[in-house]
Amino acid sequence: MLNKKVGIILDDDFGSKHIPPYPKPSFISFEHPNRINCILNHLERIGLFKDKRVVKVKPKEIDEAILELAHSKYHIKAIKKISNLGGGLLDEEVFVTDDTFDLAKKAVGGAIEAIEGVVKNSYTQSFALIRPPGHHAYREKSSGLCIFNNIANSILYLRKKLSYNDKIAIIDIDDHFGDGLAQYFYHDPSVLYFSLHEFDFTEGDLGMVDELGIDEGIGKNINFPVPEGIINEDFYYCLDLLEPILNEFQPALIIVAAGFDMYYADPIGNCLLTSSAYNHFAAKILRIAEELCEGRISFVLEGGYNVIGLPYCVEAVFKALLNEKYEAPIFEKDALLLCESNIEDLKKIKKMLTKLLSPYWEHI
Ligand SMILES: [Zn+2]
Repeated sequence: MLNKKVGIILDDDFGSKHIPPYPKPSFISFEHPNRINCILNHLERIGLFKDKRVVKVKPKEIDEAILELAHSKYHIKAIKKISNLGGGLLDEEVFVTDDTFDLAKKAVGGAIEAIEGVVKNSYTQSFALIRPPGHHAYREKSSGLCIFNNIANSILYLRKKLSYNDKIAIIDIDDHFGDGLAQYFYHDPSVLYFSLHEFDFTEGDLGMVDELGIDEGIGKNINFPVPEGIINEDFYYCLDLLEPILNEFQPALIIVAAGFDMYYADPIGNCLLTSSAYNHFAAKILRIAEELCEGRISFVLEGGYNVIGLPYCVEAVFKALLNEKYEAPIFEKDALLLCESNIEDLKKIKKMLTKLLSPYWEHI
């Protein structure tokens, strides 16, 4: 086992560029540079950067051709052109400013650095603190606050530029289904996509249990939709499904699409997790990764929009990666006053899901 070294991918631009053009409470207003600033200030305050096991790293410099691994030339040129024109609203969930193209490209470089660094053993784990997020972006278009698909682009970079063909597991814990990310690997048996996300069971949407992948990739797309309002214990119950799947899949690398918008005070998500849930999650994934793949995990920031809680969620992940005790902030105790478990609903969903997956997995 390598000595512990956690790479944290940072750049000042993530805390200053791509500023939403409209104030709160418009949906787009929440994807703000202060998401990054509040995390960095907090990590500084708790002394994280004094820890010798933590290394600050800049995003990898990439050129436009790298973006073409994941996106059509039309999409890349469209974002560049609108940025050059000063920006605009692509739809009610995607904004572009004069510096969006450069920052979104840098975000892809940040994710690549985080993931390549782990693959090449520069660090044991990594965390890319990047924005804009990526998991809703499709090959042909931006969507849901995402411009380019940071994780998909990184995986395609590993495949096409580094000839890295080992199995990769993506675990997406953002509150929302990573529709763009799922699409990239829907047919691909070498990439497992597991997404736990809030789902509106009264309306049709993507991200239901029966979207299992296609052709050779069937069984490797796993959606665990949950009702709004899940609490920490519910989250842990859902995560229990992960371990047998990862044990059977045997990934060489685990990538976490690290959205923190299931946090109870998030302005966009409707779940009720506290920061301790992310500590529990990261500790569990670290243990599994140490058993399966020499601890290789990359966290890549996706959503998470509450600037008071988000820094604690990120601290909770780092504390788990560094095997240190995490103390949740006292104000989170209030979050638990009105919480009720959704476990009976979750049992039904898990039963449906495991039945659908059983032809493709022996041990669930
Ligand atoms: Zn989200």
